[in-house]
Amino acid sequence: MQAGKDELGGAAGAGTDVAGTDVAGTDVAGTDWEYAPAPESRDVVTIAPEYGLFVDGEFVPAAGGEAFPTVNPATEEPLARVAEAGAADVDRAVAAARAAYERVWGPMPPAERAKYLYRIARVLQERSREFAVLESLDNGKPIKESRDVDVPLAAAHFFYHAGWADKLEYAGFGPSPRPVGVAGQVIPWNFPLLMAAWKLAPALAAGNTCVLKPAETTPLTALLLAEVCQQAGLPPGVVNVLTGAGETGAALVAHPGVDKVAFTGSTEVGKQIQRTVAGTGKRLTLELGGKGANVVFDDAPAEAAVEGIVNGIFFNQGHVCCAGSRLLVQESVADAVVDRLRDRLGTLRLGDPLDKNTDIGAINSRQQLDKISELAASGEAQGAERWSPPCRLPDRGYWFPPTVFTGVAQSHRIAREEIFGPVLSVLTFRTPEEAVTKANNTPYGLSAGVWTDKGSRILWLAQRLRAGVVWANTYNRFDPASPFGGYRESGFGREGGRHGLAAYLDA
Ligand code: NDP
Repeated sequence: MQAGKDELGGAAGAGTDVAGTDVAGTDVAGTDWEYAPAPESRDVVTIAPEYGLFVDGEFVPAAGGEAFPTVNPATEEPLARVAEAGAADVDRAVAAARAAYERVWGPMPPAERAKYLYRIARVLQERSREFAVLESLDNGKPIKESRDVDVPLAAAHFFYHAGWADKLEYAGFGPSPRPVGVAGQVIPWNFPLLMAAWKLAPALAAGNTCVLKPAETTPLTALLLAEVCQQAGLPPGVVNVLTGAGETGAALVAHPGVDKVAFTGSTEVGKQIQRTVAGTGKRLTLELGGKGANVVFDDAPAEAAVEGIVNGIFFNQGHVCCAGSRLLVQESVADAVVDRLRDRLGTLRLGDPLDKNTDIGAINSRQQLDKISELAASGEAQGAERWSPPCRLPDRGYWFPPTVFTGVAQSHRIAREEIFGPVLSVLTFRTPEEAVTKANNTPYGLSAGVWTDKGSRILWLAQRLRAGVVWANTYNRFDPASPFGGYRESGFGREGGRHGLAAYLDA
């Protein structure tokens, strides 16, 4: 594995594989070939020292004057101080959203609403470099992912839903579907901008107004999106952004002025929210954790499958609710697939998230790093075999090497609990029936992947896998037109597509 040159110098000399194998392109004369650093410029984004809350179209300080820092997880360098919303701020934001809903956004002709969504989408595209750099700085994800996945998909979500705004009566929800009212939306830190878009775009298209609470460790792109709303001329109060910690989220979902709650995050907090909302008449959708099975048959195209395994679990450092964190590989090809996977992991580059060559960025927070480390240690303690490519981690920041566990039993914690990090648990199976049984042996039900040459087998498995999304010969593909969501401990409700709109309509 290659460590990318990082701005800390911690990975200096990186690019040379520590074990001396020649995965990194050592030529016959023994010269180490090195990728030249290709850092994206940080100058495209201006980070203010302090940020307020976005309420009623303006940035304002928190009523209690509280603020907290947000840091760059790759360097531990503080990026900015951000206002921490308390109960009074939640009141203010919900009141602003209610007023905007009743006076402006609700009564507005749908085709007019669509224009604002198109404008937001276009500004997102115009400012895409700025968003990508800011996202990588605040979250730690590689710039090639924020640039090529997060930001384009966020814009696509606004474009897609803009198209729906004036066609809702033809969407199959009856002749005149109505908005629900004020949506309280709480999002996690793994795809900060994209999750904001997933929440805001359908809600706005359907005629609702929003109060959004980004995660404590990644507030900056949601605040830049608030600025984009101003730039697009969105009427004040239609979108409000309240930064803060878990208490801010809890106050928002409990607020009596909220008609609909949408949450993405951990199953534990999802359950708390469900208890809070029970009996209030509020609408609720929960997009929670997962322990996705990526099922590889012996007839799968080997190279494509290995790429799919890598993408399934190492994309976004494995901070993905639908990650393919359990590899189920047919026993007859298990050794060959794992060998190929190890070779491939040796070529991944870990380091500076702003370097365009980087494949694996930083873990988002110290807390998350501790959780991943604890679960990985449990894997060893319970008897699984741990392997990572030779890799030097930067000295500062939060880092975890890509890790593969073999010899994993279904009872191991690493096979059952969501690790939310770059850690793959490998299990084997002999027959398709056994693959289905093992894949479904989880309290979750969000995602799965199937790799095989046979179309009939794909269909057979897709009918039996208990997962909201099943990818066939691919993994982690997203499209705004395609509904996404799970069941069982992965939550309920769908985001995206016609089904996602249903959550925001009273039909
Ligand atoms: P949380 O579920 O705690 O956070 C998600 C969002 O909810 C954040 O905005 C958080 O605020 C907010 N929140 C926290 N507590 C409450 C509450 N009681 N009421 C309302 N909102 C609340 O996830 P964490 O960030 O703590 O991560 C913990 C674990 O959850 C991870 O290790 C991972 O396994 C899993 N996770 C799963 C995700 C998924 O999409 N499946 C996404 C994120 C995490 P704040 O950030 O300030 O705490």
